[in-house]
Amino acid sequence: MKLFQKLLAAGMALTMLLAMTACGGSKGTLVMATNATFPPYEFIEDGKIVGIDAEMAAAIAEKLNMTLEIEDVEFGSIVGGVASGKYDIGVAGMTVDPDRLESVNFSESYATGVQVVIVKEDSAIQSLDDLEGKKIGVQQDTTGDIYSTDDFGEENIVRYNKGADAVQALVSDKIDCVIIDNEPAKSFVQNNAGLKILDSEYAVEDYAIAIAKDNDELLKKVNDALAELKAEGKLQEIIDKYIPAE
Ligand code: GLN
Repeated sequence: MKLFQKLLAAGMALTMLLAMTACGGSKGTLVMATNATFPPYEFIEDGKIVGIDAEMAAAIAEKLNMTLEIEDVEFGSIVGGVASGKYDIGVAGMTVDPDRLESVNFSESYATGVQVVIVKEDSAIQSLDDLEGKKIGVQQDTTGDIYSTDDFGEENIVRYNKGADAVQALVSDKIDCVIIDNEPAKSFVQNNAGLKILDSEYAVEDYAIAIAKDNDELLKKVNDALAELKAEGKLQEIIDKYIPAE
């Protein structure tokens, strides 16, 4: 190589290095799929996705020295997208469920979810025994949808894209109740007058992070990070921020 060629090559290498540093080229991106209609786990506030899952995932990404990127997608497309490698992790108040375990792995659990029943305050429905033959609203593809379809029959289930839409349908008497996870249920009942949550719990479940089956390395890293966040009290701190003690 002639001297000016060497200088040119060196200059180009330096430019590339600078460009990589400037855009954080050495730091990998952790792509998280969620469905931000599920307070307090994920919801939109001032145009930003916030909530327990978003903060927990950010803390995990930090431990992995990665940059977190959150994609807001339909709940029903998260498992498939994680399985195909489109997203690295699915964090969406997602229940560990045998069907999903056929497509993805789950991390250790980070929270407990309870499927509850929301009714109008003056409803004739007083317990789970009264649900037979009633019109039940659910969020499409959630465990509330899957279990209640099994228990009460396809013809009695009305599916909505968002839990909040199911709750609006209940408010306007299009359906008799909504089956959904307890924390979003509390938030929806707080924000809509005349609703209540039945005392009886429909199902108790574990929330965990979905990761592709062939990505054991990431699964281990995420589990290690989760264990650290638990030991440090950081996970509890995030949860307490969004779910104040009653
Ligand atoms: N925990 C429920 C499920 O996994 C609901 C999750 C959600 O709506 N984000 O199906």
